Amino acid sequence: MIKAIGSICLLLCWSCLVSATWYEDKQGIMGTNIQVEVWAEYPDRGQQAIGAVMTEMERINQLMSPYIATSELAILNAQAAQHPVVVCEELFELIKLSLALSVETNGAFDITFASIGYLYDYRRHEKPSDEQVKALLPAINFHHVVLNEAQKSVYFSHPKVKIDLGGIAKGHAVDNAIVLLQNLGIEHALVTAGGDTRLLGDRRGKPWMVGIRDPRHADKQAVVLPLENIALSTSGDYERYFEQDGVRYHHILSPKSGTSSYQVQSVSIIGPRSTLNDALSTAVFVLGVQEGIDLLNRTPGYDGLILDNQRKLHYSKDLAP
Ligand code: ADP
Ligand code: MG
Repeated sequence: MIKAIGSICLLLCWSCLVSATWYEDKQGIMGTNIQVEVWAEYPDRGQQAIGAVMTEMERINQLMSPYIATSELAILNAQAAQHPVVVCEELFELIKLSLALSVETNGAFDITFASIGYLYDYRRHEKPSDEQVKALLPAINFHHVVLNEAQKSVYFSHPKVKIDLGGIAKGHAVDNAIVLLQNLGIEHALVTAGGDTRLLGDRRGKPWMVGIRDPRHADKQAVVLPLENIALSTSGDYERYFEQDGVRYHHILSPKSGTSSYQVQSVSIIGPRSTLNDALSTAVFVLGVQEGIDLLNRTPGYDGLILDNQRKLHYSKDLAP
């Protein structure tokens, strides 16, 4: 009898060993590519973990997309200039963090960029006219976003303000996904949402090899980094853009001018929190090489590399080769 039980245990362990493997899925959510890879002992655990991440991505999309009329963010944009609008704790906290990052980045990261940004449609090659940019520029100013901590409400003190969390929400979603995976007992995983990646553990005895793409050649890597248990975000001028009369109109706007920022082609930030990497990559892109590197050098735990508009690489001090 004991022998029989022993063999059943052996068989069970054997079957769990053979199905312990990497499980992977890719889906289009939040207007971007979501990629998840997890190491799991059984197929249902792998599928469950991947399913939990995709569900979380879609939940955040429904809450924060400016394109979904019922999202809390869209409701803010429709109503918050008329009266304070109460939002859920999660959205309130992410807006609060965004405003703090505006201060930290001297206004380079500013969710009110959308006051002009919403007039771009990169797929249709549409952009605001010079007159529109001029008229709406005063609406870009994070000080117009007034938070009431007790009520968890948001008010826009300028009539033309719109906000967009496109520079931070994907990083937030990736951080949430990693916490979900940890709670499910997963120890090795990669979660990517567009340019935002976070790694849980290593690739079982090896580091993850994470590539930073060449901004001008989609199939080439500019740099490949061996990483584990950390996050990396890249902002590039190739994600959403169109060209007109030799000018590249892309999706990272300078809050000072209300137009695309041109000092660099791509910025990658490495640090523990994907949410901060995401916002910092956008901010450093706007700040350019000198101010961007200065910002990273005074931000503990966060490092970065910048490919400037002459295609020269620059590193923050802890990454310098
Ligand atoms: P993505 O992964 O979409 O390429 P990035 O991290 O590169 O995102 O950030 C770009 C996005 O950030 C834009 O699509 C826009 O939604 C938002 N954004 C653009 N300019 C700014 C800015 N100055 N401050 C904050 N967010 C911005
Ligand atoms: Mg970003």
